[in-house]
Amino acid sequence: MKIASFDDHRVGLVEGERLYDVTAALPAALDALPPQRINWLVAHWAEARPAIERVRAQATGRALDVVRWLAANPAPPHVFAAPANYRKHIGELGSRVVTKKGRTAREQGFFLKAPGSVVGHGGTIELPRGSTRRFDHESELAVIIGQGGRDIPRERAWSHVFGYACLIDATMRIEAEQFEEERSMRKSFAGFTPLGPWIVTADEVGDPQALDNRLWVNGELRQQANTGEMIVGVAELIELVSSVLPLQPGDVIASGTPEGVGPFAPGDTLRIAIERVGEMTVQVREREGVSPRAY
Ligand code: MN
Repeated sequence: MKIASFDDHRVGLVEGERLYDVTAALPAALDALPPQRINWLVAHWAEARPAIERVRAQATGRALDVVRWLAANPAPPHVFAAPANYRKHIGELGSRVVTKKGRTAREQGFFLKAPGSVVGHGGTIELPRGSTRRFDHESELAVIIGQGGRDIPRERAWSHVFGYACLIDATMRIEAEQFEEERSMRKSFAGFTPLGPWIVTADEVGDPQALDNRLWVNGELRQQANTGEMIVGVAELIELVSSVLPLQPGDVIASGTPEGVGPFAPGDTLRIAIERVGEMTVQVREREGVSPRAY
């Protein structure tokens, strides 16, 4: 199933070219906190599914192009992110890694992006006004956690995966000594975490380590890799994160980027496509608000 969050935090199923609103299947108590609907749904999927299918059967559906898409999970408790996590040019450079210091997520662990930086398909990455800095795209497979848990061994990781989505990890680069902000801030401007266009349940994806991962800027292919080239796989990332703190339903793990990371600028269109997951497009714009300092 493809589960989407849209308009004013309604929940829908995407089938073919139609979206079916199934919000009525969720408990009325969630109407007090609409952004939490996806977190509840992934935590209660087994019990919620029959009601969702009943509501779906009654729904007429609507065309996909009249929907305002929100992030696939608009309010993830956490957005964990692995550093660059793909082998570079397999066959040319062997297992040389793409991280600056040659260290993988196995040694470096993870970092956090602000959950408030998520945006959906058709949304906008907002660059600080007047910035001359370089901003880069990173094309990543996002893992959506269903059942939470602590100290999850990699062998049991799959029972904690609800599904997957496309994720762009937008980043403001460090360029000079006066611009060495913390990574969490450089990756957390509004819209810097496009997540979508929907969550595809794990059963529809199968092996997450066998998916083509591609990203285009204005139609030009910039990144292309297969998730089979990940250095630290999805199961090991779950083991790693849950050894530090408990995973919660709805948490997002951005699994790291392959090579081809490159710049984008206001006016650009970014498109990411991950096989069996979906395709998402976002615009880049300079924001109107003036910052209290230069970025
Ligand atoms: Mn990244």
